[in-house]
Amino acid sequence: MKQVVSFDDVLAEIAVLVRPHFGKGRTAQYIPQLAGVNPNQFGMAICTIKGEEHAIGDADVSFSAQSITKLFALGLALNSIGDEVWTRVGKEPSGTPFNYLSQLEHEEGIPRNPFINAGALAVTDILLNHAAEPDALVRDFMGMLGVAHLAIDEDVAVSELETAHKNRAIANLMRSFGTITHDAEAVVEAYCRQCAVTVTCRQLARAALPLAARGFSPLIEETIFPERLTRRLNALLLTCGTYDSVGSFAYRVGLPSKSGVGGGLVAVIPDHAVVAVWAPELDRFGTSVVGAYALEYFSQLTNCSVL
Ligand code: GLN
Repeated sequence: MKQVVSFDDVLAEIAVLVRPHFGKGRTAQYIPQLAGVNPNQFGMAICTIKGEEHAIGDADVSFSAQSITKLFALGLALNSIGDEVWTRVGKEPSGTPFNYLSQLEHEEGIPRNPFINAGALAVTDILLNHAAEPDALVRDFMGMLGVAHLAIDEDVAVSELETAHKNRAIANLMRSFGTITHDAEAVVEAYCRQCAVTVTCRQLARAALPLAARGFSPLIEETIFPERLTRRLNALLLTCGTYDSVGSFAYRVGLPSKSGVGGGLVAVIPDHAVVAVWAPELDRFGTSVVGAYALEYFSQLTNCSVL
């Protein structure tokens, strides 16, 4: 893994290369507030473990972090209760869409992994034991790491809550199996609010930097995750971070990554940097079309890959 080119040049080249890929996807249609986002936006930021930052386009425009927050929620849960998390959630790719219901019943209420919605709802349930407002906990954790005050977009939160029928079904099913222990509606509400955290590419790249620096944040000079846990979080990102397209995503990009239906993507280059990209149009797996191309070009142009 060697970076022989300047990141600024790479970003400029990527901004040109991705142009033909606009218009190939659609904004998240099932969350009315996200459906209406201007699709012609593109931002990308790189933050290195030395603290250097490189950015292009709309890298300082806030967007809905959505499922990218699941990474930070999981980090908080693992930091507080450790391996006990794995009594409620698995570590396997699901091979099914992120909001799939029936696999959960077959597998007795234990979600395949912490990044599908069922798994993230179980993590929210765990965090509810430690905080009355897990959404605020996740927002502040991301903000602390991203060196920013982050907000929860109330309109997005309400918009998703009004249409969160599938997530309610998932939460209720898990409640019936005992995977979640709090009121299902309270869990769904905290989860939707967590997903509505807004972030910019630059803030996101900073926030995920401990994953590239063996758990240490060079920005706030604090150890956030033990080194072994950091490796494990990256393993989960690589194998489960982009749901049922995770194999082809690894084939194309080769970096532990997390997607969100706001159109954000964050990718970790261990011992080197974090790349965050945002473009709102999604493929059918809920991953940013242009964002995935941007990361694919990034790994091709820089030879940065864990594989
Ligand atoms: N809040 C979204 C949902 O629950 C998150 C999905 C995602 O970003 N993949 O459907």
